[in-house]
Amino acid sequence: MRGTADRVLTPQTVEQIREIVLDETARARGVSVVGSGHSYTSLVTPAGRTLIDLSGYRGLVEADPVNMTATVRAGTSIHALNRQLAAEGLALPNQSAIDEQTVAGAVATATHGSSPRQGTLSEHVVSARVMTADGQVRTITRDDPEIDGVRVHLGCLGVVLDLTFALVPGHTLRKVVRRRPLEEVLARLEEFREVHFGGFWWYPHTSQTMVWTAAPTDEPPTSSRGPRSALLAALCNNSCPPPVAGVAHHIAARAAGRAGTQDMRCDEALLHHLPPPVQGTEYSVPFSRAADAIRALVKTVREGGLRISAPVDVRFTAADSAWLSPSRQSSTCHIGVTYPVSRRRPEAWAGPLRTVDSLLWEFEGRPHWAKVHFRTGEQLASRYPQWDRFQELRRAWDPDGVFLGSYLRNLFEH
Ligand SMILES: Cc1cc2nc3c(=O)[nH]c(=O)nc-3n(C[C@H](O)[C@H](O)[C@H](O)COP(=O)(O)OP(=O)(O)OC[C@H]3O[C@@H](n4cnc5c(N)ncnc54)[C@H](O)[C@@H]3O)c2cc1C
Repeated sequence: MRGTADRVLTPQTVEQIREIVLDETARARGVSVVGSGHSYTSLVTPAGRTLIDLSGYRGLVEADPVNMTATVRAGTSIHALNRQLAAEGLALPNQSAIDEQTVAGAVATATHGSSPRQGTLSEHVVSARVMTADGQVRTITRDDPEIDGVRVHLGCLGVVLDLTFALVPGHTLRKVVRRRPLEEVLARLEEFREVHFGGFWWYPHTSQTMVWTAAPTDEPPTSSRGPRSALLAALCNNSCPPPVAGVAHHIAARAAGRAGTQDMRCDEALLHHLPPPVQGTEYSVPFSRAADAIRALVKTVREGGLRISAPVDVRFTAADSAWLSPSRQSSTCHIGVTYPVSRRRPEAWAGPLRTVDSLLWEFEGRPHWAKVHFRTGEQLASRYPQWDRFQELRRAWDPDGVFLGSYLRNLFEH
């Protein structure tokens, strides 16, 4: 989030949200909605605008164990939703690496989980209630042609009020972590198409990866998180400055070999412990091009063209249907690179992440909407066949661009 808002309002009811959306002064300067503020890009640019913070508009509206759905208010965190669902023996089908996001914020940016068998979190939305710029509340369901536009919207269609998600029965996942040589993993990347959940981290400066997979088990969760989890967390947090990263990664990669097996509640098994504060870029490339894309990245690092320290995160998602999903109609491999933000060199991340962006763009990549990228709207439009259709929907629902902050204006009105 960049800049200072004219005012930040925390409505608690639909009527209060409507008052803000229809307020003449707010409309003239623009209105943005913020979730938990976890996006690295400036999707929410509040400078001079009215910022709607929906942290007071949260909670589970209804869990329906017959239809296996849950309706939840937009400002609810995924963490809170998971806890409530678990208490009722239910769960979301998939889960991103963190659970601090609001449900609406995660869906807005096509947040993905770690399953090659499932689409992004947006794909699990079966209906949405959205307040558009005219104050009208529209309910969009799977039977409406707009549903694939509403699934991934970057905040520019209106205020999402509630989302209904498809659910699965609550379950335990057995998570297995082991060290494997990078070349072997890349040569057998196809195996990841078959796992329930999984991915790997490549430790730059080594030829080693830490591969993790998770699959349902009938065993109950292991009672304590235990030292193996703590070790895993430490390894993922391994974000030393580049000069010492080589040694640190060798130690980390060796230790990963002992990380082992653990049974965990499904949502907890899919969480990873990522190192703040960082900046990060992430590209979704077609699965068929993933091994070559990763090899190109490795080559650039080895030849000294890219100095990165944190483990490179690789995960997979099935093809999905949202017009603006980076996984639209193509099973994808997500390749994520993070860079520490230091007070001494606050912009040091820009060069390395630009290198990653240039490289992965060449592999038909689509950047993550919430992470750093260096692409123009025109370039992105060429990667999204339904771009114009989304633009039509956006203009129909928000003809005056009330919800279009400067970042989104650059993207959509090029
Ligand atoms: C440490 C870390 C780990 C992450 N892990 C993953 C991961 O595993 N997979 C992945 O794909 N992504 C991941 N992300 C990205 C993250 O999921 C997205 O940035 C997500 O959008 C954050 O949600 P938020 O609630 O913070 O939304 P914000 O960042 O606050 O907002 C995101 C967008 O949603 C819009 N928005 C929010 N609420 C509403 C609403 N009610 N109505 C209309 N628009 C709304 C905003 O206007 C904005 O455009 C990660 C990010 C971090 C920082």
